[in-house]
Amino acid sequence: MHPSALADLRSFIRTIPDYPRPGIQFRDITTLLGNAGAFRRAVDELVQPWAGSKIDRVAGIEARGFILGGAMAHQLSAGFVPIRKKGKLPHTTVRVAYSLEYGLDEMEMHTDAIVAGERIILVDDLIATGGTAEAAVKLLRSLGSQLLGACFIIDLPDLGGARRLEAMGVAVHTLVRFEGH
Ligand code: AMP
Repeated sequence: MHPSALADLRSFIRTIPDYPRPGIQFRDITTLLGNAGAFRRAVDELVQPWAGSKIDRVAGIEARGFILGGAMAHQLSAGFVPIRKKGKLPHTTVRVAYSLEYGLDEMEMHTDAIVAGERIILVDDLIATGGTAEAAVKLLRSLGSQLLGACFIIDLPDLGGARRLEAMGVAVHTLVRFEGH
C-alpha cells in the first residue's frame, strides 16, 4: 500500500490508553467508522485483493467484524456470515474454544451458514495475538470452506497474530499497523 494512504487511515483511529485495563492501548475504530470518507476507504482497501474475484461469503467476527463484513459483503456481492460468542445464535451451531489473556472463551457459527467448498473471506477490525482469528479459521475450515484470506484494518505486529495465521496457510491482509501493544 502507498505509505501516505497508510498514514492517513491511521489518523482516523483513536487510541485510548489503559482501556479496558491498565497497560492496554485500545485502538478505537468508532472514529474511523463515523467518518464517511475514511469508512469508505477502509472498506475499499479491505476488499481490494479480491476485487473481481467470485466470493461466496464474508465471515465477520463479533462485533466490529459485523460492521466491516456487512459493508464488504455488499461491495463484493457476497453473503455475510456472523461468527458469534457462544449462546447468541438461535439454530444448530459448531463451536470452538479459544484462549484469552485470562481463561477460555468459545465462539460459534451456524452449521448451515456455509456450504463446503464455498469461497470465504474472514474479517475483524484488529489482529493482536491472533487467538480470536485462529478460532474463527478453525470454525470456517471445519465446515469445509475454502478460506481465501483474512483481513483486518489494524495489525499489532509485535503480538504476532498475522504470522500465526500465515503459519496456518491463511493469507493475511491488513491496512495499518501500530507498533507495541
Ligand atoms: P487477539 O485474539 O489477541 O488477536 O485479539 C483480537 C480481538 O480483540 C479483536 O476482536 C479486537 O477487536 C480485540 N482487541 C485486541 N487488542 C485490542 C486493542 N489493543 N484495541 C482494540 N481491540 C483489541
